[in-house]
Amino acid sequence: MSNLQQITVLGATGSVGLSTLDVIARHPERYQVFALTGFSRLTELLALCVRHKPQFAVVPTTEIARTLQADLQAIGLDTRVLAGEGGLCEVSAHPQVDTVLAAIVGAAGLRPTLAAVEAGKKVLLANKEALVMSGALFMQAVRHSGSVLLPIDSEHNAIFQCLPGHYANGLAGVGVRRILLTASGGPFRETPLSDLAGVSPEQACAHPNWSMGRKISVDSASMMNKGLELIEACWLFDARPEQIEVVIHPQSVIHSMVDYVDGSVLAQLGNPDMRTPIAHALAWPERIDSGVAPLDLFTVARLDFHAPDELRFPCLRLARQAAETGDSAPAMLNAVNEVAVAAFLDRRIRYPEIASMIDEVLNREPVVSMDELDVVFAVDAKARTLAEQWLGRNGR
Ligand code: NDP
Ligand code: MG
Repeated sequence: MSNLQQITVLGATGSVGLSTLDVIARHPERYQVFALTGFSRLTELLALCVRHKPQFAVVPTTEIARTLQADLQAIGLDTRVLAGEGGLCEVSAHPQVDTVLAAIVGAAGLRPTLAAVEAGKKVLLANKEALVMSGALFMQAVRHSGSVLLPIDSEHNAIFQCLPGHYANGLAGVGVRRILLTASGGPFRETPLSDLAGVSPEQACAHPNWSMGRKISVDSASMMNKGLELIEACWLFDARPEQIEVVIHPQSVIHSMVDYVDGSVLAQLGNPDMRTPIAHALAWPERIDSGVAPLDLFTVARLDFHAPDELRFPCLRLARQAAETGDSAPAMLNAVNEVAVAAFLDRRIRYPEIASMIDEVLNREPVVSMDELDVVFAVDAKARTLAEQWLGRNGR
């Protein structure tokens, strides 16, 4: 038996997936790739299989699986290709797997991530949407299985690093006054409000500090990303929404802070590169090289902080409201946002309509309690239908 940790990377072809594989490849004495999954970037997935030689690869359909299997065989690789959500759940819960990196984007990541949690794996969570959709059930499953859940969203990883090890029983018990969740403010932080109706998907995706997938880039521009992160932080750290303050910090050097009752504020700093939180979570509680350059404070020179402007960032207000309402409100918010962002990227709606659509759809729906996974998916589906209807009436 080898001592190598076996790792499944869900969403291996994406931005976080590739950063994870970069860190893993630096430590062949520690980690071995067990499974890689992709969705549309299949040439990239094939190349990753050649590089990392996983036991399994997962693709969306059986037809694609057959093609990829033939391609892999032709080059002499014995990676087995599985298909669909069943395949994703299989490689998440497989008895040989130690750690699952959950980096599928959006609601599609929920079932496979939960499968890893239920199987008691160490789960490194990037897929914040899974937690936003079903936080109560998700955290219940974590407690039930004893799964170790570590955040790799950079802010949550920073908060985790600034909290004492025994925070699990609530923030008050460890003397935390509040969490300061930092945000860059995205590419439209200073754009005149009157110009926002004309911004393009390309402008929205051009994040000043981070290189990320398209969906989260748009979420960062609208600050819905920070809203989803607020909800994510409530679940991860057992916090109430009012214990979390959002701070705009354009340099993205401080990745978040924890404010203690004695007046101490602890911050985690670093260059904005996802390989730092990924390496931290992979090796936790040890530390390993991530490939990230050391932070040069003299180059950074200054750190600025601003309060977010809710007129400019209505999505942040909508997300905070959903966090306060609880129950199905965050899942609805997440689903409508996914439809809205896709419509904006397809140029069917203008940028300010992302917030209008969420506001209008959310305010029409009653809130229900989310005590079963079937209800979570029903709420998600209903919200998407309502969002599509809104698009039918208002979209191009
Ligand atoms: P990307 O769009 O770059 O990657 C998404 C991954 O999910 C790809 O591997 C993609 O496959 C796969 N995927 C997409 N749709 C499906 C589907 N329906 N079923 C199965 N797999 C699917 O996103 P990011 O890497 O930027 O983000 C991933 C997650 O991490 C998101 O939840 C995001 O919020 C979170 N996150 C990202 C950060 C970042 O810096 N990028 C920072 C913090 C959190 P393919 O590419 O082959 O189509
Ligand atoms: Mg983040």
